[in-house]
Amino acid sequence: MFEMPWRDTEGLGAFRANAEGAVVAANTQLINWLERPQDIAHASINELILGLDNERWHIYMAQLLASHGVAPFPAHLRITDDKLLPVEVHLTALPRPNAETEILGLLIPIGDRLQTEGVYELQKAVLEAVALGRPLKVVLDLLCRRVEALAPEVICSVVAVDKDGCLRPMAGPSLPAAYAAIVDGLKIGPKVGSCGTAAWRGEPVEVVDIASAPLWEDAASGVLPFGLAACWSTPFRGRDNGVVGSFALYYRTPRKASPFHRHMVEACVHLCSLAFEHEANQAEIRRLAFFDSLTGLPNRALLRDRVEQALGRMERNHNSLAMLFLDIDRFKTVNDSLGHAAGDRVLCNVAKRLLDAVRETDTVSRIGGDEFVVVLPDCDANAAQLVAEKLNQILAQHMELGDLNFAPSASIGISLYPNDATDFDTLLKNADIAMYQAKRDGRNCTRFFLKAMNEEADSRLELEAALHQALSQNQLQLYYQPKVWLDQPGIAGVEALIRWPHPQRGMVSPEQFIPLAEECGLINAIDAWVLKTACSQLAAWRAKGLAVPSMAVNLSATRFTQDDIPGHVRQILAHNNLNPADLTLEITERLVLEDSRETQSDLTRLRKLGVQLAIDDFGTGYSSLSYLTRFPVHELKLDRSFVQDIETNRDSRALALAVMGIGHSLALAVVAEGVETAGQHAILLAEGCNIAQGYFYARPMPAEAFETWLEETSKLKTCS
Ligand code: C2E
Ligand code: MG
Ligand code: MG
Repeated sequence: MFEMPWRDTEGLGAFRANAEGAVVAANTQLINWLERPQDIAHASINELILGLDNERWHIYMAQLLASHGVAPFPAHLRITDDKLLPVEVHLTALPRPNAETEILGLLIPIGDRLQTEGVYELQKAVLEAVALGRPLKVVLDLLCRRVEALAPEVICSVVAVDKDGCLRPMAGPSLPAAYAAIVDGLKIGPKVGSCGTAAWRGEPVEVVDIASAPLWEDAASGVLPFGLAACWSTPFRGRDNGVVGSFALYYRTPRKASPFHRHMVEACVHLCSLAFEHEANQAEIRRLAFFDSLTGLPNRALLRDRVEQALGRMERNHNSLAMLFLDIDRFKTVNDSLGHAAGDRVLCNVAKRLLDAVRETDTVSRIGGDEFVVVLPDCDANAAQLVAEKLNQILAQHMELGDLNFAPSASIGISLYPNDATDFDTLLKNADIAMYQAKRDGRNCTRFFLKAMNEEADSRLELEAALHQALSQNQLQLYYQPKVWLDQPGIAGVEALIRWPHPQRGMVSPEQFIPLAEECGLINAIDAWVLKTACSQLAAWRAKGLAVPSMAVNLSATRFTQDDIPGHVRQILAHNNLNPADLTLEITERLVLEDSRETQSDLTRLRKLGVQLAIDDFGTGYSSLSYLTRFPVHELKLDRSFVQDIETNRDSRALALAVMGIGHSLALAVVAEGVETAGQHAILLAEGCNIAQGYFYARPMPAEAFETWLEETSKLKTCS
C-alpha cells in the first residue's frame, strides 16, 4: 500500500523504496516537485531518478544490506520527461522488525537557486577583480573567501607551482599560517600530499582520509594537528599547458566532496587559470615596459624609477650621484654600412661590457638607439671621471664584425646630483648636453656638464624650433651666385645658397643653421626643398631665355645615408624638363672619403645618371688626394682660404697653384672660391684658372637681382 505523505524535512525530498526499487512512500516536498504526482504511486526508482538504474540500485542494495553504507552521489530527479532537477542522493537502510528492509532516500537539490547564484556571483566578483588588475594574491584570497562563504564546511586554498617545481602558497585565508609555512617550498612529486601529487600528476587528487592515505604518509603528521582530515586538490594549467598551480578544498572530517563542491571547484579552477594567465601577461607587459628588448637592460622608464629611488637615498645620506650619458661614436656608419644585424651586435656587446665594468649597485640602461646611461650612486666628480675613463678603455677593445675589426668608443657627458640638478629629467638633460659637447670636441672623450652649456643648448633648441617653423611656413629663400669664366665672356653656372631671414635675428647664416639642421634631422627636408626650388628656378630662367648653363646645389653629407638621392634627383630633373648635366651637386671631401657602401653606390648612380659632381671647399679637409682618381668628379672648388692670401703669402699661392695643377692634370674644372679683389683675379687668370666665384664678380643675390645682373653683364660684355 502506498503511503503518502509523511512529515516534511525542510527543502528535502524523501522517499522510501523496497528492495526491488519500487517507491512505497514520498514526502510532500518530493510530491510537490513532481508535475504528475499521481505517477509516484508504485513508480520504480529508476523512472524517478535518472542515473540510478536497476543495476546500480542492486549494487547499492547489497552494500546497504551489508551495512557498508553508500556515499552520496549526484543524480537528477525526473520532474517531467524533459525537466530534471539536479539532486544529491543519500541512501540509508531502514531495518524493520519482521519485515523486509526498506531503503530511505533523501534528495538534496544541488541546483539550488541560492547556490547557483552564489557560484555565479563568485565568478563575477573574481573576474571583476582580475579585470581591475588587482594583485594575484588579492584575487585568489577573494576567491577562497567567497568559496568558504558558500560552503562553510570547507577550507579553501590555492598554491602556485614555481619554475623550480616547488609549491608556493598563494591564498588560504582560513588555513593556519603555520601549515602554509610547511607547504611553502615543498617540491612537487608522486607522494607529496594532495596538492603536491595533483600538480605532479597533472590531475585531481581526492584524499578522503588523510590519516590513512599513502599519498600523505610523509606529510600527514604536518597537517593532522591542524584539524585537517581530508583534502581534494585540482591542478590548473597555464598558457603553455604546464601545471601552474592547484586549487584545494580541505575538510575537518574524513569525507568526499559533495556534488555542489564539485560544481564549485569546476568554476574555481577555471578562474584560477584565468587569474594566473592574467598575471603572466601582466608580467610580460611589465618586462616589455621596463626593459630594452635588444640588450635586456633597463629602459628609460625603469631608469627613472631607479634614479628617483637613489636620489631619495642620496638626499638622506647627503651623498652625490653621477649620471653618465654615453653615445656610441660613429654607430650610424656601422649600421648603414654593415647592416642592422651588425649594429645590434655592437649594441649588445657594448651593453655587456658596460654591465661587466660597473658595480652591482650601479645601473646601466639603454634609453634609445646608441644611447646608454650609467648611474653611479654615492659617486663624486673625481670618481665619475675615473669610471668614464675606465668605460672608454673597456669599450676600446676590438670586436670582430664580419671582416672588420671594430673598436667602439663613446662620447660621454656627466651630470652630478646635487650640483647640476636634483631631479631625474634635469640630470638626464644636462648629461645629454655635456655628451653633445664631448661629440663636438672630437668624440671619444668625456665632458662634465657646465651651466654655460645649458644656455647654449637652450638657444640651440629655440633656433631649432624657429627653423622648423621657417621651413614649414616657406620662409627660407635661395640666393644665387654666378661662377664666371675668367678667360671668356658669360657665366659657367650659378650656385644656389640658402638664406634664412629670421624675424628677430635678421639673416641667419647657413654656416650657423646647416650644422644645426644636420644634428636635428631637418637637413633632409631643407636640402630637398633647395634642390626642388633651384631646379624649378633654372627651368624658369630657361623658359625666359636667360643663358644659365647649369645650377649648382650644395648637398649635406648626412643626407646620403638617409635618402634615395639619385631617385629624388632624377624625379626633380624630369619634373622640370632639365638634363642631368644641367645640375651640379656640390659635396664635401668628407662624404667622398666615407667608406659606406650606400654612399659609394649613390655617387656612382648619380654619375651614371649624368649629373655633375663638384668637391666643395677643396683642400681644407684631407690630404689624401688619391680618391680623385677613383672618383667620378667633374669639378674642384678651391677653398676660399687659399684664395684669400694668394696676393700676399707665397706659400698660399704655391699651394693654390699645386691644387690647380692636380685638378687640371685630372681634366677637372677648377673653380676658385671667394675671389674678392682685382689682384686675386689677375693672379688666378695668369695661373690658368678659368672659373671663379666671389664678391669681386657678384655677391649671392635673390633670383630677380640675379636676372638683372646677368642682363647687365651680358650687355657690358657685348659692348666691350
Ligand atoms: P659653400 O658651398 O662653400 O658656399 C660658398 C660660401 O662662400 C657662401 O656662403 C658664399 O656666400 C660665400 N662667398 C661667396 N663669395 C665670397 C667672397 O668673395 N668672400 C667671402 N668671404 N665669402 C664668399 P654662405 O652662403 O654663407 O654658405 C655657407 C656654406 O653653407 C656653403 O659653403 C655651404 O657649405 C653651406 N650651404 C649654403 N647653402 C646650402 C644649402 O642649400 N644646402 C646645404 N646643405 N648647404 C648649404
Ligand atoms: Mg658650395
Ligand atoms: Mg665652398
